[in-house]
Amino acid sequence: MPFVDAHAHLRTGKLSGTAVPASAAFALRLLQEDMEIAGVDCSLVVTWPEDMPVLADAAARSPGRLYSLLWFDSRQLRASIHDLVLLHARFPSLLVGVKTVFPYLYQSPLQQEFFPLYEFCVQHHLPIQFHCGGNPRMEAVCHPSLFATLARTFPTLPIVCLHGGGGWYREMPALLSTYPNVFLEVEGLQLHEVQLHLPPQVLPYLLQRCESTKMMFGSDRLGREEKYFRRVQFMQSVPQPHREDLCHRTVARVYRLPEGTVNHG
Ligand SMILES: [Zn+2]
Repeated sequence: MPFVDAHAHLRTGKLSGTAVPASAAFALRLLQEDMEIAGVDCSLVVTWPEDMPVLADAAARSPGRLYSLLWFDSRQLRASIHDLVLLHARFPSLLVGVKTVFPYLYQSPLQQEFFPLYEFCVQHHLPIQFHCGGNPRMEAVCHPSLFATLARTFPTLPIVCLHGGGGWYREMPALLSTYPNVFLEVEGLQLHEVQLHLPPQVLPYLLQRCESTKMMFGSDRLGREEKYFRRVQFMQSVPQPHREDLCHRTVARVYRLPEGTVNHG
C-alpha cells in the first residue's frame, strides 16, 4: 500500500520573514529527492499561495504524488481568504486542505473572524490542519476544549489536530472518540523524542487508546533533515493494521484523495 505523508513543508520562514530555501523550485526538488530515498509515495505539501504554480507543474508531471495544503496567514485574513478562494478555483484537484498557524500568533481557533474560513472549507470539503503544542501560551490556545467547541459548531468541518495534540496528547483519545469530524496527525517520533533519542511514547499511548482510523502520519518535514528519514523509517516499522491506517487509509479518506492515487506504491 502506498505510503502517504500528510504534512511536509515546501518553504518555511513566513512568520519570521525569512524564506528558506529562497526558491520554491529548489525546495520542491529536494523534497522529491527525499521522498524517493525515504520511500514516500505521496506528500501533502504545505504551500504558500505564491508557490502553488510551481507545485502544480510538478504534480502534473507525477500524478498522485503531490497535493497542496494551503498555508493560511491569519494575520491578513481578508487577503488569505481571497487567495484561498482563487487558488481553490484555479487548482481544484491539487488543493486538498488548509494549514493554519493560529497558536504561533496566539490566536484562538474560535475567534469569530475565522468563521468565513471554516464556512468555505465546509462548503468545499477542505480539511483544516491546526497546529498543537509549543510554549504555555501556545498550548492554551490549542486546548482540546476549543476543538470540541469548534467540532460542535461546524460538525461537517474535518478538523485535523497536528503533532499528536502537543502537550494535550493525553486528552486526544476522548476528543477523537466524541467527535466524528476530529482527526489526529502524529509524527511517529515526536519532536522531543527524535531530538533526545528517546524511545517513542506518545504514539504507543495513542494507539492503545484511539482508533487508528482517526489518526494519520505527517512528517512535518521542514527541509532536508535527518529527522524526516527517521520518522518515515519508524512509521514503516509500525505493525499492521495500524500502519495502513496511519500511512494511507485515514489521510486518503479525510482529504478525499482521488481513487488510484499513488497506485504504483
Ligand atoms: Zn508543520
